[in-house]
Amino acid sequence: MRKKDLKRPALTERLYYKEPGLLEFEARIIESGRQGDHYFSVLDRSAFYPTSGGQLHDTGHLGDVKVVEVVETDSGDVRHITLSPVAHAGSAVSGRVDRARRQRHRRQHTAQHILSAVFAKLHDLDTQSVHLGEEYGAIEFNATALTPEQVEAAEQSANSKVLDALPIEILFVESEEVSQLPLRRPTSRTGTLRIIRIVDCDYVACGGTHCSNTAEVGPIKITAVEKARGRILIKFLSGRQALEDYAVRFTATDSMSRSLTCAVEDLPEKIEKMAGDIRRLKKQVYEARKHLLPARASELATFVHHRDKADYVAVLVKDVDPVLASKLAGMVADLIEGFAVLLIEERLVLGVCEKTDLHAGNMARALAQAKDLKGGGNSRQAQLGGADCKKLEEYVEAILDSL
Ligand SMILES: [Zn+2]
Repeated sequence: MRKKDLKRPALTERLYYKEPGLLEFEARIIESGRQGDHYFSVLDRSAFYPTSGGQLHDTGHLGDVKVVEVVETDSGDVRHITLSPVAHAGSAVSGRVDRARRQRHRRQHTAQHILSAVFAKLHDLDTQSVHLGEEYGAIEFNATALTPEQVEAAEQSANSKVLDALPIEILFVESEEVSQLPLRRPTSRTGTLRIIRIVDCDYVACGGTHCSNTAEVGPIKITAVEKARGRILIKFLSGRQALEDYAVRFTATDSMSRSLTCAVEDLPEKIEKMAGDIRRLKKQVYEARKHLLPARASELATFVHHRDKADYVAVLVKDVDPVLASKLAGMVADLIEGFAVLLIEERLVLGVCEKTDLHAGNMARALAQAKDLKGGGNSRQAQLGGADCKKLEEYVEAILDSL
């Protein structure tokens, strides 16, 4: 297959090079066959964009057959991948590119050019890599840090370019003449280069699909600034994706603003205050429970069982702070001079009186082995997870058997 490809130059005329808005076209199949579980067709001309340069492929139809993926071969052919065969080589076929997906890619790719251009102009940053995905677009810059003010300035400038409705041109320039153009990114390619010019904004060599005017991009919103491999990565939304994100955020903040009876802009301060109140209240509840611990221990100690091997208390308890549970088990054990087993949700908490020769850690080990639980502890206290609240009696019998 590869040898055959190398015998001839790339055959597919890429219609999107000159007409990125073209969605329907007529073509002839020049090669077809199987590719793994799927089928492929190479056409003499195609408006389908193959995955390359950080931009995802188009989808659509060839005849009635759905195109699920479009890839570029080493020899430069565009392979349309389908779930069933389209037609034999030599047949004529109609192609139809999925409009919504193409439009999304055009907007997102153009938004990336605008953002790359304004970050270069305002902050002198070079675009290192680009990811244009289903969920969001991302640009990696040669920076180790970006301030919120820098990000906001770039976003505002990018949206101004959108509002200015700047024309976007596709130029075909010979590589010898390209040095006369103020390219944002130098290129080592030779021959005829495809240059994307955003008037008063950007010049760059690129083979992707773009809008014909910056206004078509719609709103641009930077949604995250992250560090990746020591560099800064910004994530952004554009067009419908930005509007959908705005709608989700509007609904959420509007609902919060009504339930907390404050303006949207006051929400962060209000929520921070509420979080502080919750922390204080939790501490107060903890202190109150700690204060009540001796009374609770005395109450639980009344459930003592007497056995030859040891006296014990085994109870299901609720409303006990996890940090205080061990302390409570220890206090109960001391009061009855035996051991206490508290079952709190799925956790067994063991406490042992130091006046006895019992060992909580050994009890936990025996119980873990007999009842397939996980945990451990020291001589005075131990904890086990994964307990069943209906098996408390079984657990106690297993402890008594191990003594
Ligand atoms: Zn591009």
